[in-house]
Amino acid sequence: MFDNEHKMFKKSVGEFVEKEIRPHTEEWEAQGFTPRSVWKRCGELGFLGVTYSSEYGGSGADHGYSYIFNLEMGKCGSPGVALGLSVQCDMATPALAKHGSEFLRKAYLAPAIAGDVICSIAVSEPDHGSDVAAIETKAVKDGDDYVINGRKMWITNGTQADFLTVLVRTTPGTGYQGMSLFIVPTTTPGVTPGKRLKKTCFPSSDTSEIVFDNARVSKEHLIGQEGKGFVYQMEQFQFERLAAVALALGGLKRCYELTKKYIFDRNAFGRPLSAHQVTRHKMAQMISEISMIEAMSLKCVQMASLGVDFTKDVSMLKLIAAQTQQRVAEECVQLHGGYGLITEFEVARYFRDAKLLGIGGGTNEIMKEIIAKMEGME
Ligand SMILES: Cc1cc2nc3c(=O)[nH]c(=O)nc-3n(C[C@H](O)[C@H](O)[C@H](O)COP(=O)(O)OP(=O)(O)OC[C@H]3O[C@@H](n4cnc5c(N)ncnc54)[C@H](O)[C@@H]3O)c2cc1C
Repeated sequence: MFDNEHKMFKKSVGEFVEKEIRPHTEEWEAQGFTPRSVWKRCGELGFLGVTYSSEYGGSGADHGYSYIFNLEMGKCGSPGVALGLSVQCDMATPALAKHGSEFLRKAYLAPAIAGDVICSIAVSEPDHGSDVAAIETKAVKDGDDYVINGRKMWITNGTQADFLTVLVRTTPGTGYQGMSLFIVPTTTPGVTPGKRLKKTCFPSSDTSEIVFDNARVSKEHLIGQEGKGFVYQMEQFQFERLAAVALALGGLKRCYELTKKYIFDRNAFGRPLSAHQVTRHKMAQMISEISMIEAMSLKCVQMASLGVDFTKDVSMLKLIAAQTQQRVAEECVQLHGGYGLITEFEVARYFRDAKLLGIGGGTNEIMKEIIAKMEGME
């Protein structure tokens, strides 16, 4: 399904990762965030927002390109770097690109694609994560403005973001029907990011709370129609989930390749680890599972490019990928013995970071709820 142009794109992203990302990941993990210059450099190289229209700096490319970008970035040895960029391209901007006005696209989408600004998606709240329809952050109309009050939690890129795509309640008491999506610049008075959260995973990705205290934005900052925010966000989640799987898959492939090399180099009881049948079977199991994830990912990429609804497929994909990622990363660490627990060895970092896919962007349990519902079981 990929032609020569896709392959050339893959090669350039791969080379970029080797030369400009991997050598710095330890430093970025230690400081707790990826520097702004990485967004800028990716923008210069034409890697950001490839699926978006060329009118705003994108390439109007099919979803295979964003999949390849996430996959190759996922191999960089520090998944947090890939996550920050993926938020910019596949999580915070799909609704803006599809439903945003010309003003919003020019003012926010174009600089995001250029890497001149950093953005975040702000849906989750301290008291509501899985139950998106229960969010409490509200925007109240006041003349030609909306005034936003509330708190958002776990916001990736939160301490560095220049603008946020924020899901809020615009009509109280109407469940998912009373919600809207806004673009909110972080320079808006009343918008305050909290401290960088100290996480057990993804140390190169900054995550924070964001407080909105009478933050006023003009009505031009509403994406699409008032009251359609939940629907837009559910659409947007499909791209988020596919991107999250692609970057996890890149990590799995890297883990597998590093482990494959290790078992030939490392001797135990007078022969390489690879000479033990149990090792070969573990490797065979892992590559089989990785290939299944890849096949289903490509199906979702194709569906995304065709513009058909892939909610059920991507939910199944994310669920199984999250479970597989943990198992495979753990097995790779096991095969490395003690070295597998030292962060200098990349497998240790992939193992450390393997938990997030089953939580972020909708937990495994929520994926099961979606799948069961779409199978007609409620
Ligand atoms: C590192 C990190 C980065 C993140 N980045 C962002 C971001 O950029 N933007 C953003 O908006 N959010 C972000 N999130 C938030 C993430 O999407 C939420 O953590 C996730 O949706 C789960 O919500 P919660 O943490 O409130 O858990 P809860 O919703 O409180 O769930 C707790 C547990 O209960 C289970 N549960 C809940 N409801 C049901 C049910 N109906 N049936 C069965 N089980 C159920 C859940 O599966 C989970 O196991 C991030 C989170 C992390 C950890």
